[in-house]
Amino acid sequence: MSKVGGRKSYSPVLIKECGEGMVDVKKTLPRVVVLLDKDRPDGAAYLRKTVAAMLGRALKKLPPGMTFVIRDAWRPAKVQQDIMESFVVRFRRQHPGWTKERAKKEAQKYVANASGVMASGHMTGGALDVRLWKNGKRVPMRSWKLTYQENAGPYQPKLPKHLQRNREIMYRALSEVGFSQCHNEFWHWSYGDAQWAKRTGAGVAIYGVVETPTKSR
Ligand SMILES: [Zn+2]
Repeated sequence: MSKVGGRKSYSPVLIKECGEGMVDVKKTLPRVVVLLDKDRPDGAAYLRKTVAAMLGRALKKLPPGMTFVIRDAWRPAKVQQDIMESFVVRFRRQHPGWTKERAKKEAQKYVANASGVMASGHMTGGALDVRLWKNGKRVPMRSWKLTYQENAGPYQPKLPKHLQRNREIMYRALSEVGFSQCHNEFWHWSYGDAQWAKRTGAGVAIYGVVETPTKSR
């Protein structure tokens, strides 16, 4: 990333698909809880093989009794489009004065495109939405006193200290194994996708969009 005239600018990201297959996380990492917050035909969480292996390494870095809960992993294009539309509706409901264009602009900060080079990392199998569970219960990481946007930011000084500590546990485990965190969403992490290539400065992504989760052998 470089700054031109005070504005952030990025070099274009190239995608060199490596062809790696995906695995079903429920089968490869049975300790990880899969609780997708969007409907899927089979309820399975698919990730690229390397990404699932990285998650397995991160799992070992968590304190005893703690595990990850996956709220989303690979995502088909249709679901990506539906999410964008639901965000526009949500923001217009929360801000009745906003035009549809303003709500869409706000939604685009949180929801990636469903096509093109910068299509959502979820569509590549390189990205996942993740939180922590301890002894079968959700580990709290957001405050009900803050807005969606305030809670979403990874560095939120308004968050009570105990919630910040919970986020730090997740941050440490995932970043130490090579995942990169989305700047707008503390729960969204990726490796190998275009957003990862942009954030880390790698420049070349190894995972492009995959229309059907092909199983890795
Ligand atoms: Zn995500």
